[in-house]
Formats: sequence, C-alpha cells, structure tokens
Amino acid sequence: MMYPWVKINKGREKSIERFHPWVFSGSVHSAERDLQEGEIVRLVDFEDAFLAIGHFLSGSLSVKILSFKDIEINQKWFDERIDEAAKRRITLNLPSKISDTYRLVHAEGDGMAGVIIDVYANVVVIQPHSSGMEQSLVLIVNSLKKIGFTKILHKPVGKEKTEVLLGEVNENVMVKENGAKYLVDPIQGQKTGFFIDQRDNRHLLRKYAEGKTVLNVFSYTGGFSVSALLGGAKAAWSLDSASNALGICDENARLNNVEAKHKSIKADALPYLQNMHDKFDVIVLDPPAFAKHKRARHNAIQAYRRINEAAINALENRGLLFTFSCSQVVTQQLFYDAVASAAINSKRSVSVLHRLRQPADHPVSLFHPEGEYLKGMVLRVD
Ligand code: SAH
Repeated sequence: MMYPWVKINKGREKSIERFHPWVFSGSVHSAERDLQEGEIVRLVDFEDAFLAIGHFLSGSLSVKILSFKDIEINQKWFDERIDEAAKRRITLNLPSKISDTYRLVHAEGDGMAGVIIDVYANVVVIQPHSSGMEQSLVLIVNSLKKIGFTKILHKPVGKEKTEVLLGEVNENVMVKENGAKYLVDPIQGQKTGFFIDQRDNRHLLRKYAEGKTVLNVFSYTGGFSVSALLGGAKAAWSLDSASNALGICDENARLNNVEAKHKSIKADALPYLQNMHDKFDVIVLDPPAFAKHKRARHNAIQAYRRINEAAINALENRGLLFTFSCSQVVTQQLFYDAVASAAINSKRSVSVLHRLRQPADHPVSLFHPEGEYLKGMVLRVD
C-alpha cells in the first residue's frame, strides 16, 4: 500500500527519530497532494528517507504516528495492537475477581495514538481522539470482537451522541473496583462513564479512612466516598454540581450498604467550601481539568490555588487533603507550586505524605511524556 508522503523540514526529523509520536504543522515541509483529515500518510525526511506512518490531522498537530516501521495499517495491525494491550493488562491482573473495570488502550501509551478504550465489566467504550481513529472504528470493533467482547459502544468526544456498535446496552453497567461496586452510565455519563484513572488513589483513601469524616469534592458518582466508607469512615459527603452524577452516587452508596453514612450535596464547589462551617478529617479535591489548553494555564493555576486554599482551611488538625489535577498542561511542578501557595495563604503547616499519579493501565510512553496527565498529592494539614 502506498500512502501519500509528507515531507518533514530539515532538522525536524530529530523528534521522530526519538520516537515522539506527534508531528506539529510547523515541522511539515510539503505533501504529495492535498490530504484529507484522517488519511494515513508516510512521513519522510528531507532526503526522502522513510521516518514513520501516521494519521493526518488538520490543525497545529499534523500527524499522530502509528508506526515507526514502513508497514500497512490494516486489520492485522489493529488486531495485534489491541491483543497486545489486553495481554499487558493481564500482566497487571486486570480484570481480576475484585476489579473488572480498566483502561484497555491508553492511546500513545499503548502505541495507538488517537484512541482510548475503556472496559466496564462486559461493555467496552471506544473514544477516538483523531479522525483517523474515528474512521478506523470498524477495524477496532473487529479486533475487540476477536478477543471476546460482545458489547461495544462508540463515545465521541464532545456533544455528539454515544452509539451502540455491537450488542445491547441500555442501562447502567455494574462494575467492581477493589471489591467496591459502582454503577456506570457509559451512554450519558461524563468521559467514557467512570473515572477509572483514580482506582489506586481511591484505594489509598480507603486505607486511611477508618473513623474519619470525609468531604469528597467534585465527587462525580462517589468513587472516593464509597471507598472511604468501605474503609470504615464515620461519614462521607459527596459534593458535585451535576445532579445525574449525584443520583448514581446515592445508588452507589446503597449498592455497597453504606448509605446510612453518606450524603450527597449539589453545589458549586468553591463558594460552598468558602462558606461552609463544618470541618473534616479528610477532604478529596478532584476537579475537572481547569485548563484544556496552554493559554488557559494561568487562570487554571489560580483556580487550583483558590480551591486548595478553601479546602486546607476546612480541615481539622492532622487532616488529610487528597488533591488532584488532571489538566495535562499543568505540570507536576506547577500544580505543586499552586498548592504550596494555597498553603502559604492559609497560614497552616502542611506536609506532603504521598505524590500520586495515574495507574498502570494508563501507561505513559517514555518517548511521549505528554501522556502523563493525572497528578495528585496527599497532604497533612496541621
Ligand atoms: N473524583 C471523581 C471524578 C471527578 S470528575 C471520581 O472519582 O469519579 C469532576 C467532577 O466535577 C464532575 O463530576 C463534574 O460534574 C464536577 N464539577 C465540575 N465543576 C464543578 C463545580 N463548579 N462544582 C462542583 N462540581 C463540579
């Protein structure tokens, strides 16, 4: 198969030779012909030597690389990538008796730039992040069928509707995570339905929760609350602005027999925290990505500072703050600095007990540090 070539400017082939999977438009010199969004292209250097194969995108990111070998991207390629991703998860003990929700494919981290695939018990959700992957859906579904999945959904990013591609899915799916049960609504829910990426961090909270009062801010469907209550928390309150999420949150508390100690609060997080009189032993802060682009970064950092300051002020002595940022453009250091400045403003003494990140089923390629997005800390506030 001869894919149209795209020639890279002199010197700009260096990052590709270091296996970085993205090519920006400034690196592109010329193309064989006018290219359609989503087409597969063959990247060559200034001397026409082969570099890589990838999906063409219009915009500032021009190509997402699929292979550094001169191969055809066909059904076999998708079969191999997806089968390999599944085998990697098995080495991580996913799925297991106690956890049957996991990320099967984490885009660049699994050598499949432009697509994520999440598993909720027997339901798989495909979320393409490039038109090339959008156009490859049939191939992806075929590969998933071959490894035994029978219920497959396509959930586009943004406002477009979720579609069922295979089997029947018309109600919430029940999943297990470290023995806790959660209902997931992959059709109407946020992201692909559940924030699988907090699995390890929810488990860590369970370890510290015994006898404590917990306020779970930006709770979504109550993952951290249920985990804390299963760990013996005295009480857990879940706060979110989305009523749908809180509806499922209450169901989740019942499903795990902890509803007597649980309460849902529909509120806007910052004013609620700033005006509340209650103090808590533990506060979880897991806001949505405050910055989706570099240009929104400055405001995002201010927002992280304000919300963390309000949370620090609402903790009892020796309180624990589980604080997170899932904005890819806010680095670990920027987040740390924002939280440090919140601590300074609060005039309390604060120390770092843990530094947290995304779990092993959300791997980051060493050649693509941009794949790292979730960071967090556990702080002790005195
Ligand atoms: N910690 C959750 C995931 C949080 S996702 C888990 O473990 O599943 C972020 C959540 O923040 C979403 O549920 C969203 O509805 C909520 N949210 C966004 N803006 C908010 C605001 N201003 N106040 C309260 N909640 C908000």
